[in-house]
Amino acid sequence: MGDLAEIPGAIASRAAEMAELLSSLVAIPSVSGQERAMTEFVAEWARRQGFAVDLWQADEDELARQYPLPPKFIPLSGRPTLVIQHRGTGGDAARSLMFNAHADVVAAPQAQRWRFGPWSGTVHDGRLYGRGACDDKGPLVSALWAMQTIRQERIPLAGDLLLELVPGEEDCVALGTLTSVARGWRADGLVVLEPTESRPRCASRGGLRFEVTCLGTAIHGTVKWLGQDAIALLPSALQALSRLEARWNDRNADPLFAEYPLMRPITVDSVHGGQWQGMLCDQVVCGGYLELLPGDDLDHWKTKLIESVAAEMAAAGIAPDRVKVEIIESYHGHRTSPDHALCRAAGKRDWSGFNSGCEAGLRWQILGTPTLVWGPGSLAQAHAVDEWVDFKETALVAEQFTMLAAHFCQPQIAER
Ligand SMILES: [Zn+2]
Repeated sequence: MGDLAEIPGAIASRAAEMAELLSSLVAIPSVSGQERAMTEFVAEWARRQGFAVDLWQADEDELARQYPLPPKFIPLSGRPTLVIQHRGTGGDAARSLMFNAHADVVAAPQAQRWRFGPWSGTVHDGRLYGRGACDDKGPLVSALWAMQTIRQERIPLAGDLLLELVPGEEDCVALGTLTSVARGWRADGLVVLEPTESRPRCASRGGLRFEVTCLGTAIHGTVKWLGQDAIALLPSALQALSRLEARWNDRNADPLFAEYPLMRPITVDSVHGGQWQGMLCDQVVCGGYLELLPGDDLDHWKTKLIESVAAEMAAAGIAPDRVKVEIIESYHGHRTSPDHALCRAAGKRDWSGFNSGCEAGLRWQILGTPTLVWGPGSLAQAHAVDEWVDFKETALVAEQFTMLAAHFCQPQIAER
């Protein structure tokens, strides 16, 4: 073909095939830890299309010898990684582009609350429903659609076009991408596939996972005045966290995130406590995330969070030995300049940051890879009951990805 004006027609001609592919992917319940069937399905699809396929099982011990593993470490056994590749004609002198998708989805409890089953992949009124529809299978299909179009329509690319499908994003950000980095896969530009409402985002959040433990003194409930109830300490911990969220909501901290009402959201997502009935509770642990800005230094914020929670609790009259704060996971954000060739290849945009952590920070941190986060769908649907993606939007992003590759995968012009 060669004429980029023909791309929209070439994309449209594959719509039925791609809707079926997306339905099939959503029908595979690839909850974190059970990614194998999903990853093998995509590998098989890629082989049939004629892509070069690298499908392997990463070894944790080997990985740990090469890189410090994320603090929250999930075993990788039974969770393969996949890279598919379309070779360009220009060798190393041409810019390569890689897509990054995660194979896992969050669980779908309470299946009876879903309009269509969470693993149905039902299409209704132009929307495709099911767990993973927009996080991350719709965005993945946009990228596969673009790669297939480039291959079959023989759209000339000088640089390689790649896609890595990694396990474990939903339970341990960055570990899956690390397996691909350790394998030696590299690119001059990266698009991390996430639901961004079809807008490319040139920055993403870093973050910390914390646990605040309230320590009581257990005793029989009938003599409760002799003990200390950990549950009674919990409100002070929750109030401390919301005061810190308000204090750290500096509206001028980063213009790329100014459109969001919270600069640094703190979300408590779990509370565990209570060992036995009829007694004062010994300890309550509340866990959650502090979402940071790309420029926030993780070590600085680890210390700041630990000290600030302790100070807030002390100010509320809670003795220091009643509170423990720990950081159990951290991940980097990223920021690519809107002037970079990758952003320019994405077209003239109103640039903003992606309002979440994702796989972008890993390659950015280790290799300095210029990165966009981009895909159909919205964080407002991700992880929700009746998760859906608009199929027309999935097609539109496939078209945008095809154009991006055609513009970016060209001979190098000095800057990287
Ligand atoms: Zn995701």
